[in-house]
Amino acid sequence: MRLLVPTNWDPALIEPLSRLEAGIELYGVLATSLIGTGGSSPDNVDMVQGQAEEYVKRAHAAGLRFDYLLNAPSMSNMEWDENTHRELLEHLEWISSIDVDSVTVTIPYLVELIKRQFPRLKIRISTIAHVNSVARARFFELLGADSINLDFNVNRDFKTLEAIRSAVSCEIIILANNLCLYQCPYEYYHHDGLGHASQSYNPVNGCYVDYCTIRCTLDRLRDVSQNLKCRWVRPEDLQAYEGIGIEVFKISGRAMSSERILNAAAAYSSGHYQGNLHDILNVLTPKIGFINAGLPGLQSHTVAPPPKLHIDNQALEGFVDFFRKQNCLSECHRCDYCRKMADKVIQFDRNEVDQYVAMLTEVLHSLSGSSMFEAEAGASKHLP
Ligand code: SF4
Ligand code: SF4
Repeated sequence: MRLLVPTNWDPALIEPLSRLEAGIELYGVLATSLIGTGGSSPDNVDMVQGQAEEYVKRAHAAGLRFDYLLNAPSMSNMEWDENTHRELLEHLEWISSIDVDSVTVTIPYLVELIKRQFPRLKIRISTIAHVNSVARARFFELLGADSINLDFNVNRDFKTLEAIRSAVSCEIIILANNLCLYQCPYEYYHHDGLGHASQSYNPVNGCYVDYCTIRCTLDRLRDVSQNLKCRWVRPEDLQAYEGIGIEVFKISGRAMSSERILNAAAAYSSGHYQGNLHDILNVLTPKIGFINAGLPGLQSHTVAPPPKLHIDNQALEGFVDFFRKQNCLSECHRCDYCRKMADKVIQFDRNEVDQYVAMLTEVLHSLSGSSMFEAEAGASKHLP
């Protein structure tokens, strides 16, 4: 079994990860880069290229491979602008020169470009490319993919997983600790917004509002059964995937604390976790306001993390078996399996949840009413 683990660039992650029993590979990306990333980056980590280079060296010295993310969903067509295209090639030269083992890519054109001009780099397809069928997996393999992160929405669809596994020969990866909504309606918009905000040349100058995380956090708290519908995989259930020939798993959460990353890595590496499943899932904290705007007068602040739910991991023994016969795509409106299980295995503080929901609802109200721009002259603009 191999495990892909996110880095928040903390050097203290390297040594403990190198001692885990699974083959560990780190992945990460600088907060701002030419291609950008479709996922949330850690706050307050202002790395420069030289530091990233040193970090990759230290990971290699400890026996860890390194994957660099190039996974924004689009480059706003700037890949076809001659000057930006040259910068893109320079950026890829740098990535190749620091000896990363692979890159994770969403844009199909980049797969072909890297394959042709930087053949040393192995190419992984990002989960943001939504590979959720035999047809799409085969297209990407033909394009040059060495490895594919599947769309997490198919994590519990074993029939499709088995079919994809037997239809392609490249590596297949399951994202294991994701707390994204099942069939999240904000997903494309979210990755797109993050991608553009993290691109160095983008005229939005990093401006971004965390609408999607605010929205999905509200959805999970208003209906806690959504936390079970999410397609995470318990550490104990990794063996169900190994049984069908899928042996590489990925932990999400580059914005998580080092302690949480190590805790999740240890659980998935050992295939056992005694305790609250919520503690090893990638729980995002919504940020309120304009983020990284780089414009005077606009600011953001992070609110407290969402209320902690207690999800009894041991009580979920056998939970995954139901999905072997259930067609969630077409049956979710008349199935109450996740709601009934949620009643049994999830506990939370109702007052704390109600207060958090009220706060986020007020923020959303200001977004849908456009009142976030109505600041007093001279005062900094911010959401509630
Ligand atoms: S569930 Fe939330 S974090 Fe995940 S893709 Fe949807 S909006 Fe983004
Ligand atoms: S169809 Fe049933 S098992 Fe599947 S996500 Fe919906 S409630 Fe859960």
